[in-house]
Amino acid sequence: MSQAYRHVLQLAETIGPRGSCTEAERKAAHYIKTELGRSKLNLMEEQFKAVSSFSWVFGLIDLLFIVAALIFPSRPKPGFFLALFAFIAFILESSTFPFLSRLLPKKSSQNVIAHIPARSKPIRKVIITAHYDSSRSALNFSPKLVKGFRRSYLLLVGAMASEVFLYALAVFTSLSPRLLWFLSLPCVLYILVTFLTLLHRELAGEYTPGANDNASGVAVLLEVAKILTRFPLITTEVTLVATGAEESGTNGALAYLRRHRPSKDTYVINLDNLGIGHLTVVTAEGILGAKAASPELLSLAKTVAAEKNLALRFAPYHLLTTDGTVFLMRNYPAVSLMAFDEEGLLPNWHWPTDQVSFVNPENLNAAKELVLGILRKLES
Ligand SMILES: [Zn+2]
Repeated sequence: MSQAYRHVLQLAETIGPRGSCTEAERKAAHYIKTELGRSKLNLMEEQFKAVSSFSWVFGLIDLLFIVAALIFPSRPKPGFFLALFAFIAFILESSTFPFLSRLLPKKSSQNVIAHIPARSKPIRKVIITAHYDSSRSALNFSPKLVKGFRRSYLLLVGAMASEVFLYALAVFTSLSPRLLWFLSLPCVLYILVTFLTLLHRELAGEYTPGANDNASGVAVLLEVAKILTRFPLITTEVTLVATGAEESGTNGALAYLRRHRPSKDTYVINLDNLGIGHLTVVTAEGILGAKAASPELLSLAKTVAAEKNLALRFAPYHLLTTDGTVFLMRNYPAVSLMAFDEEGLLPNWHWPTDQVSFVNPENLNAAKELVLGILRKLES
Protein backbone atom coordinates (compact mmCIF):
# COMPACT_ATOMS: atom_id res chain seq x y z
CA MET A 1 0.00 0.00 0.00
CA SER A 2 1.43 3.39 -0.94
CA GLN A 3 2.02 5.93 1.80
CA ALA A 4 -0.32 8.39 0.06
CA TYR A 5 -3.12 5.83 0.07
CA ARG A 6 -2.44 5.18 3.76
CA HIS A 7 -3.02 8.89 4.45
CA VAL A 8 -6.39 8.68 2.67
CA LEU A 9 -7.27 5.63 4.75
CA GLN A 10 -6.32 7.39 7.99
CA LEU A 11 -8.24 10.56 7.19
CA ALA A 12 -11.37 9.13 5.56
CA GLU A 13 -11.77 5.87 7.45
CA THR A 14 -9.94 5.94 10.80
CA ILE A 15 -10.87 9.57 11.50
CA GLY A 16 -13.86 9.43 9.14
CA PRO A 17 -16.26 12.22 8.14
CA ARG A 18 -14.64 15.56 8.99
CA GLY A 19 -17.34 18.22 8.90
CA SER A 20 -16.14 21.84 8.94
CA CYS A 21 -15.46 23.09 12.50
CA THR A 22 -16.08 19.66 14.08
CA GLU A 23 -14.02 17.57 16.50
CA ALA A 24 -13.19 15.14 13.66
CA GLU A 25 -11.84 18.06 11.62
CA ARG A 26 -9.59 18.93 14.56
CA LYS A 27 -8.41 15.31 14.71
CA ALA A 28 -7.55 15.46 11.02
CA ALA A 29 -5.57 18.66 11.64
CA HIS A 30 -3.69 16.84 14.40
CA TYR A 31 -2.94 13.92 12.05
CA ILE A 32 -1.59 16.27 9.37
CA LYS A 33 0.54 18.08 11.96
CA THR A 34 1.99 14.80 13.20
CA GLU A 35 2.77 13.65 9.66
CA LEU A 36 4.40 16.96 8.69
CA GLY A 37 6.28 16.87 12.02
CA ARG A 38 7.99 13.66 10.91
CA SER A 39 9.71 15.70 8.22
CA LYS A 40 10.96 18.08 10.96
CA LEU A 41 9.25 21.03 9.34
CA ASN A 42 8.63 24.41 10.87
CA LEU A 43 4.94 23.98 11.78
CA MET A 44 2.10 26.25 12.82
CA GLU A 45 -1.51 25.60 13.63
CA GLU A 46 -3.58 28.73 13.20
CA GLN A 47 -7.08 28.94 14.65
CA PHE A 48 -9.78 31.02 13.01
CA LYS A 49 -13.53 31.48 13.31
CA ALA A 50 -15.76 30.24 10.50
CA VAL A 51 -19.36 29.39 9.70
CA SER A 52 -19.83 25.64 9.94
CA SER A 53 -21.95 25.29 6.80
CA PHE A 54 -22.64 27.20 3.58
CA SER A 55 -26.36 26.35 3.95
CA TRP A 56 -26.92 29.12 6.52
CA VAL A 57 -25.80 32.08 4.45
CA PHE A 58 -27.37 30.86 1.20
CA GLY A 59 -30.56 29.89 3.07
CA LEU A 60 -30.68 33.40 4.55
CA ILE A 61 -30.24 34.94 1.09
CA ASP A 62 -33.09 32.77 -0.27
CA LEU A 63 -35.26 33.91 2.66
CA LEU A 64 -34.57 37.58 1.86
CA PHE A 65 -35.84 36.99 -1.70
CA ILE A 66 -38.98 35.33 -0.31
CA VAL A 67 -39.58 38.17 2.18
CA ALA A 68 -39.08 40.69 -0.66
CA ALA A 69 -41.84 38.91 -2.62
CA LEU A 70 -44.13 38.95 0.41
CA ILE A 71 -43.80 42.69 1.09
CA PHE A 72 -43.70 43.75 -2.60
CA PRO A 73 -47.51 43.94 -3.23
CA SER A 74 -48.02 46.45 -0.41
CA ARG A 75 -44.58 48.16 -0.53
CA PRO A 76 -42.94 47.78 -3.98
CA LYS A 77 -39.91 50.01 -3.31
CA PRO A 78 -38.67 48.27 -0.11
CA GLY A 79 -39.46 44.94 -1.82
CA PHE A 80 -37.25 45.84 -4.78
CA PHE A 81 -34.36 47.09 -2.64
CA LEU A 82 -34.47 44.01 -0.43
CA ALA A 83 -34.32 41.70 -3.49
CA LEU A 84 -31.45 43.78 -4.93
CA PHE A 85 -29.56 43.60 -1.62
CA ALA A 86 -30.07 39.82 -1.50
CA PHE A 87 -28.79 39.46 -5.08
CA ILE A 88 -25.62 41.47 -4.34
CA ALA A 89 -25.06 39.32 -1.24
CA PHE A 90 -25.48 36.18 -3.36
CA ILE A 91 -22.97 37.30 -5.99
CA LEU A 92 -20.37 38.27 -3.35
CA GLU A 93 -20.76 35.07 -1.30
CA SER A 94 -20.62 32.89 -4.44
CA SER A 95 -17.40 34.63 -5.51
CA THR A 96 -15.50 33.97 -2.22
CA PHE A 97 -16.16 37.45 -0.76
CA PRO A 98 -17.88 36.99 2.64
CA PHE A 99 -20.66 39.51 3.13
CA LEU A 100 -23.73 38.33 5.05
CA SER A 101 -21.81 35.34 6.42
CA ARG A 102 -19.79 37.86 8.49
CA LEU A 103 -22.91 38.32 10.63
CA LEU A 104 -23.61 34.62 11.20
CA PRO A 105 -22.53 32.66 14.30
CA LYS A 106 -19.10 31.06 13.95
CA LYS A 107 -17.23 28.09 15.32
CA SER A 108 -13.53 27.29 15.48
CA SER A 109 -11.48 25.75 12.72
CA GLN A 110 -7.75 25.71 11.97
CA ASN A 111 -5.15 25.71 9.23
CA VAL A 112 -2.00 23.62 9.50
CA ILE A 113 0.92 25.47 7.93
CA ALA A 114 4.47 24.31 7.21
CA HIS A 115 7.39 26.19 5.66
CA ILE A 116 10.02 24.52 3.55
CA PRO A 117 12.82 27.05 3.12
CA ALA A 118 14.89 27.27 -0.07
CA ARG A 119 18.46 26.00 0.05
CA SER A 120 19.86 29.36 -1.00
CA LYS A 121 18.41 32.87 -1.24
CA PRO A 122 14.72 32.50 -2.21
CA ILE A 123 13.59 34.37 -5.31
CA ARG A 124 10.05 33.02 -5.50
CA LYS A 125 7.38 31.68 -3.21
CA VAL A 126 4.86 28.92 -3.76
CA ILE A 127 1.86 28.07 -1.60
CA ILE A 128 0.38 24.57 -1.88
CA THR A 129 -3.13 24.20 -0.47
CA ALA A 130 -5.40 21.23 0.21
CA HIS A 131 -8.47 21.21 2.43
CA TYR A 132 -8.98 18.39 4.89
CA ASP A 133 -12.59 18.91 5.98
CA SER A 134 -15.45 17.06 4.28
CA SER A 135 -18.88 18.24 3.20
CA ARG A 136 -22.38 17.42 4.33
CA SER A 137 -24.38 15.57 1.69
CA ALA A 138 -27.42 17.19 0.07
CA LEU A 139 -30.14 16.12 -2.35
CA ASN A 140 -28.65 18.07 -5.26
CA PHE A 141 -25.44 15.99 -4.97
CA SER A 142 -27.36 12.69 -5.24
CA PRO A 143 -26.27 10.52 -8.19
CA LYS A 144 -29.48 11.40 -10.09
CA LEU A 145 -29.39 15.15 -9.57
CA VAL A 146 -25.66 15.89 -9.52
CA LYS A 147 -25.43 15.76 -13.32
CA GLY A 148 -27.75 18.77 -13.46
CA PHE A 149 -26.00 20.63 -10.60
CA ARG A 150 -24.73 23.46 -12.75
CA ARG A 151 -28.02 23.80 -14.62
CA SER A 152 -30.07 24.03 -11.42
CA TYR A 153 -27.56 26.49 -9.97
CA LEU A 154 -27.80 28.72 -13.05
CA LEU A 155 -31.60 28.46 -12.92
CA LEU A 156 -31.43 29.75 -9.35
CA VAL A 157 -29.27 32.69 -10.45
CA GLY A 158 -31.77 33.32 -13.27
CA ALA A 159 -34.72 33.22 -10.85
CA MET A 160 -33.01 35.69 -8.50
CA ALA A 161 -32.02 38.05 -11.33
CA SER A 162 -35.56 37.91 -12.79
CA GLU A 163 -37.15 38.79 -9.44
CA VAL A 164 -34.87 41.83 -9.12
CA PHE A 165 -35.51 42.84 -12.75
CA LEU A 166 -39.31 42.55 -12.51
CA TYR A 167 -39.45 44.56 -9.27
CA ALA A 168 -37.14 47.19 -10.81
CA LEU A 169 -39.59 47.53 -13.73
CA ALA A 170 -42.41 48.10 -11.23
CA VAL A 171 -40.45 50.78 -9.37
CA PHE A 172 -38.93 52.62 -12.33
CA THR A 173 -41.61 52.32 -15.07
CA SER A 174 -45.37 52.72 -15.22
CA LEU A 175 -45.98 48.97 -15.72
CA SER A 176 -48.47 47.40 -13.33
CA PRO A 177 -46.72 46.28 -10.10
CA ARG A 178 -49.43 43.67 -9.56
CA LEU A 179 -48.79 42.06 -12.98
CA LEU A 180 -45.01 42.11 -12.46
CA TRP A 181 -45.44 40.54 -9.02
CA PHE A 182 -47.50 37.69 -10.53
CA LEU A 183 -44.81 37.17 -13.16
CA SER A 184 -42.18 36.87 -10.39
CA LEU A 185 -44.01 34.09 -8.55
CA PRO A 186 -42.48 31.12 -10.47
CA CYS A 187 -39.02 32.55 -9.64
CA VAL A 188 -39.95 32.93 -5.96
CA LEU A 189 -41.24 29.36 -5.93
CA TYR A 190 -37.92 28.08 -7.35
CA ILE A 191 -36.01 30.05 -4.68
CA LEU A 192 -38.29 28.55 -2.01
CA VAL A 193 -37.50 25.02 -3.27
CA THR A 194 -33.77 25.84 -3.05
CA PHE A 195 -34.28 27.10 0.50
CA LEU A 196 -36.03 23.84 1.45
CA THR A 197 -33.18 21.83 -0.12
CA LEU A 198 -30.66 23.71 2.04
CA LEU A 199 -32.82 23.19 5.12
CA HIS A 200 -33.08 19.48 4.31
CA ARG A 201 -29.27 19.38 3.95
CA GLU A 202 -28.83 20.73 7.48
CA LEU A 203 -31.48 18.48 9.01
CA ALA A 204 -30.93 15.22 7.14
CA GLY A 205 -27.58 15.49 5.32
CA GLU A 206 -24.63 13.53 6.69
CA TYR A 207 -20.95 14.38 6.63
CA THR A 208 -19.23 12.36 3.91
CA PRO A 209 -16.05 10.31 4.48
CA GLY A 210 -14.35 12.72 2.05
CA ALA A 211 -11.85 10.20 0.67
CA ASN A 212 -11.66 11.83 -2.74
CA ASP A 213 -12.83 15.23 -1.45
CA ASN A 214 -10.30 15.85 -0.12
CA ALA A 215 -8.22 13.30 1.78
CA SER A 216 -6.72 12.65 -1.67
CA GLY A 217 -5.41 16.21 -1.98
CA VAL A 218 -4.03 16.18 1.57
CA ALA A 219 -2.28 12.86 0.88
CA VAL A 220 -0.54 14.38 -2.14
CA LEU A 221 0.39 17.47 -0.10
CA LEU A 222 1.96 15.29 2.63
CA GLU A 223 3.92 13.22 0.12
CA VAL A 224 5.16 16.31 -1.70
CA ALA A 225 6.26 17.71 1.68
CA LYS A 226 8.22 14.58 2.46
CA ILE A 227 10.16 14.71 -0.81
CA LEU A 228 10.77 18.46 -0.64
CA THR A 229 12.28 18.18 2.84
CA ARG A 230 14.65 15.50 1.59
CA PHE A 231 15.50 17.42 -1.57
CA PRO A 232 14.67 21.09 -0.95
CA LEU A 233 14.31 23.47 -3.85
CA ILE A 234 17.19 25.86 -4.41
CA THR A 235 15.59 29.25 -4.89
CA THR A 236 11.94 28.51 -4.11
CA GLU A 237 10.34 28.77 -0.68
CA VAL A 238 7.32 26.49 -0.33
CA THR A 239 4.50 26.99 2.17
CA LEU A 240 2.09 24.11 2.67
CA VAL A 241 -1.35 25.10 3.89
CA ALA A 242 -3.77 22.34 4.89
CA THR A 243 -7.01 24.29 5.19
CA GLY A 244 -9.99 23.74 7.47
CA ALA A 245 -13.59 24.80 6.83
CA GLU A 246 -13.26 24.88 3.04
CA GLU A 247 -16.57 23.11 2.53
CA SER A 248 -18.43 25.73 4.56
CA GLY A 249 -17.15 28.54 2.31
CA THR A 250 -13.37 28.37 1.61
CA ASN A 251 -12.81 29.77 5.10
CA GLY A 252 -9.32 28.32 5.70
CA ALA A 253 -7.89 29.90 2.55
CA LEU A 254 -9.57 33.23 3.40
CA ALA A 255 -8.21 33.13 6.97
CA TYR A 256 -4.69 32.39 5.67
CA LEU A 257 -4.87 35.33 3.25
CA ARG A 258 -6.18 37.71 5.91
CA ARG A 259 -3.42 36.79 8.34
CA HIS A 260 -0.42 36.49 6.02
CA ARG A 261 -1.22 38.72 3.02
CA PRO A 262 1.28 36.93 0.74
CA SER A 263 2.78 39.10 -1.99
CA LYS A 264 0.84 39.06 -5.25
CA ASP A 265 3.58 37.24 -7.14
CA THR A 266 3.27 34.17 -4.89
CA TYR A 267 2.34 31.10 -6.92
CA VAL A 268 -0.48 28.93 -5.61
CA ILE A 269 -1.12 25.27 -6.40
CA ASN A 270 -4.39 23.93 -5.00
CA LEU A 271 -4.99 20.18 -4.66
CA ASP A 272 -8.62 19.06 -4.56
CA ASN A 273 -10.41 15.80 -5.48
CA LEU A 274 -7.39 14.03 -6.96
CA GLY A 275 -8.24 10.40 -6.21
CA ILE A 276 -10.49 9.23 -9.04
CA GLY A 277 -10.67 9.79 -12.78
CA HIS A 278 -8.62 11.85 -15.19
CA LEU A 279 -5.95 14.04 -13.64
CA THR A 280 -6.79 17.56 -14.82
CA VAL A 281 -5.16 20.95 -14.69
CA VAL A 282 -8.00 23.41 -14.18
CA THR A 283 -7.67 26.19 -16.76
CA ALA A 284 -10.36 28.47 -15.26
CA GLU A 285 -12.59 28.41 -12.17
CA GLY A 286 -15.88 29.89 -11.07
CA ILE A 287 -19.55 28.97 -11.30
CA LEU A 288 -20.65 32.47 -12.33
CA GLY A 289 -17.74 34.07 -14.19
CA ALA A 290 -14.56 32.15 -14.96
CA LYS A 291 -11.21 33.27 -13.57
CA ALA A 292 -8.31 31.99 -15.69
CA ALA A 293 -5.53 29.99 -14.07
CA SER A 294 -1.92 31.21 -14.29
CA PRO A 295 -0.76 30.74 -17.93
CA GLU A 296 2.78 30.13 -16.64
CA LEU A 297 1.69 27.29 -14.32
CA LEU A 298 -0.49 25.81 -17.09
CA SER A 299 2.38 25.78 -19.53
CA LEU A 300 4.77 24.25 -16.95
CA ALA A 301 2.19 21.53 -16.23
CA LYS A 302 2.04 20.76 -19.94
CA THR A 303 5.83 20.40 -20.16
CA VAL A 304 5.96 18.21 -17.06
CA ALA A 305 3.19 15.95 -18.37
CA ALA A 306 5.07 15.48 -21.65
CA GLU A 307 8.40 14.80 -19.94
CA LYS A 308 7.02 12.43 -17.28
CA ASN A 309 4.53 10.82 -19.64
CA LEU A 310 1.53 11.71 -17.46
CA ALA A 311 -1.95 11.42 -18.97
CA LEU A 312 -3.01 14.95 -18.19
CA ARG A 313 -6.11 16.87 -19.22
CA PHE A 314 -6.73 20.59 -19.28
CA ALA A 315 -10.27 21.79 -18.62
CA PRO A 316 -12.19 24.57 -16.86
CA TYR A 317 -14.12 23.84 -13.64
CA HIS A 318 -17.51 25.50 -13.37
CA LEU A 319 -18.98 24.03 -10.18
CA LEU A 320 -18.57 25.24 -6.60
CA THR A 321 -15.62 27.32 -5.42
CA THR A 322 -12.31 25.79 -4.30
CA ASP A 323 -9.42 27.18 -2.25
CA GLY A 324 -7.88 27.85 -5.68
CA THR A 325 -10.82 30.13 -6.58
CA VAL A 326 -10.05 32.26 -3.51
CA PHE A 327 -6.55 33.03 -4.80
CA LEU A 328 -7.61 33.41 -8.45
CA MET A 329 -10.31 35.92 -7.50
CA ARG A 330 -7.57 38.01 -5.86
CA ASN A 331 -5.32 37.81 -8.91
CA TYR A 332 -2.67 35.42 -7.63
CA PRO A 333 -0.95 33.23 -10.24
CA ALA A 334 -2.77 30.08 -9.17
CA VAL A 335 -3.91 26.74 -10.51
CA SER A 336 -6.03 23.89 -9.14
CA LEU A 337 -5.13 20.28 -9.86
CA MET A 338 -8.19 18.01 -9.76
CA ALA A 339 -9.49 14.80 -11.34
CA PHE A 340 -12.80 14.27 -13.14
CA ASP A 341 -14.82 11.38 -14.52
CA GLU A 342 -15.85 11.01 -18.20
CA GLU A 343 -18.73 13.44 -17.70
CA GLY A 344 -16.49 16.11 -16.24
CA LEU A 345 -17.90 15.57 -12.75
CA LEU A 346 -16.21 14.88 -9.41
CA PRO A 347 -16.92 11.20 -8.61
CA ASN A 348 -19.00 10.66 -5.42
CA TRP A 349 -18.99 14.43 -4.90
CA HIS A 350 -20.45 15.43 -1.50
CA TRP A 351 -22.14 12.04 -1.19
CA PRO A 352 -21.79 9.22 1.41
CA THR A 353 -20.17 7.04 -1.29
CA ASP A 354 -17.03 9.21 -1.20
CA GLN A 355 -15.14 6.27 0.30
CA VAL A 356 -11.53 5.10 0.36
CA SER A 357 -12.19 2.00 -1.76
CA PHE A 358 -12.88 4.21 -4.80
CA VAL A 359 -9.60 6.11 -4.56
CA ASN A 360 -6.95 5.02 -7.02
CA PRO A 361 -3.37 5.09 -5.62
CA GLU A 362 -2.01 5.62 -9.15
CA ASN A 363 -3.90 8.91 -9.30
CA LEU A 364 -2.25 10.14 -6.12
CA ASN A 365 1.18 9.21 -7.41
CA ALA A 366 0.62 10.95 -10.75
CA ALA A 367 -0.57 14.09 -8.97
CA LYS A 368 2.49 14.07 -6.71
CA GLU A 369 4.79 13.75 -9.73
CA LEU A 370 2.98 16.61 -11.41
CA VAL A 371 3.31 18.95 -8.40
CA LEU A 372 7.01 18.13 -7.94
CA GLY A 373 7.58 18.56 -11.67
CA ILE A 374 5.93 21.98 -11.74
CA LEU A 375 7.98 23.12 -8.72
CA ARG A 376 11.28 22.03 -10.25
CA LYS A 377 10.36 23.61 -13.60
CA LEU A 378 9.63 26.90 -11.84
CA GLU A 379 13.26 26.96 -10.75
CA SER A 380 14.78 26.33 -14.17
ZN1 LIG B 1 -13.16 19.80 -2.01
